[in-house]
Amino acid sequence: MGTYAVTGSASGMGKATADQLRAAGHTVIGVDLKDADVTADLSTSAGRSAAAAEVLKLATTGLDGAVLAAGLGPGPGDSRSRLIIEVNYFGVVDLLSAWRTELAKSGNAKVVIFSSNSTTTTPVVPGSTVKALLAGDAEKAIGSVKRFGKNASAFAYAGSKIGVSRWLRRNAVTAEWAGAGIRLNAIAPGAILTPLLQAQLDDPELAGAIEGFPIPLGTYGQADQIAQWVVFMLSPAADFMTGSLVFVDGGTDALFRSDDWPVTVPLTKLRRYLRITREFNARKEARAAKG
Ligand code: NAD
Repeated sequence: MGTYAVTGSASGMGKATADQLRAAGHTVIGVDLKDADVTADLSTSAGRSAAAAEVLKLATTGLDGAVLAAGLGPGPGDSRSRLIIEVNYFGVVDLLSAWRTELAKSGNAKVVIFSSNSTTTTPVVPGSTVKALLAGDAEKAIGSVKRFGKNASAFAYAGSKIGVSRWLRRNAVTAEWAGAGIRLNAIAPGAILTPLLQAQLDDPELAGAIEGFPIPLGTYGQADQIAQWVVFMLSPAADFMTGSLVFVDGGTDALFRSDDWPVTVPLTKLRRYLRITREFNARKEARAAKG
């Protein structure tokens, strides 16, 4: 049995994951705005630092993994983009950075981040949003979506999920994470009927877009189904899995992008592949030489 930190543990998919982990006998340290072991506001830097520290204090037998589910969807209001950027991106990256050393001690830690199929199904998200996030610049990321006016938060949302997925894919394979035995993977759900989606369906400005969103399997997903995937991705079944984004979305991503991936690698990319292989093996040999 392990100890897992779960953000967004008070509602929707975070709650369903926490419930399933507890039912299986694991210890869960839930983090949320209310109704959690650690009550914290992940939309501020101070809130994130306090939450990270409090979790480490409560994890008296160590931390075997983490599930980063806290997040906000698009919605009305000028401050929405800021909240989305702060919670959905920095609420993942800052907490994981603070927990990395403790996770490494487990030797086989597993992390599941909540991404979204909005990463691949929302057209024209500015590249500058993602770039700003990866550079740690929240203000620039928020500024980059302002031009979309009342739709800005939808682009902040997709941008935050692309950003966090890219951060994951870059970091999962490094010595700090893979080398420390920490598996970093993400789940990318489609439309799942949680309070977050219900709020969008109840909003006359957003309902049309949600209802018109094509789902080949024809229904919304349920929080419990996604939680089962997350629990599986924390289990020994995921020992050989890192850097993966698992789409569980009723087929929407495949519908829009059937031919986008996997794709053949063109000759122009060959040098890059060879360089990465060479550098990887040089690092491996250097580690072996050090003993
Ligand atoms: P939800 O609204 O039911 O739960 C989200 C939780 O995050 C809530 O308990 C909320 O209090 C918490 N949270 C929000 N702001 C916070 C803050 N500032 N500090 C601390 N906690 C905060 O939503 P859900 O649908 O279960 O979403 C879970 C994750 O899945 C989110 O990251 C969301 O973006 C993602 N997602 C949802 C869907 C969907 O269709 N529901 C699809 C793809 C991805």
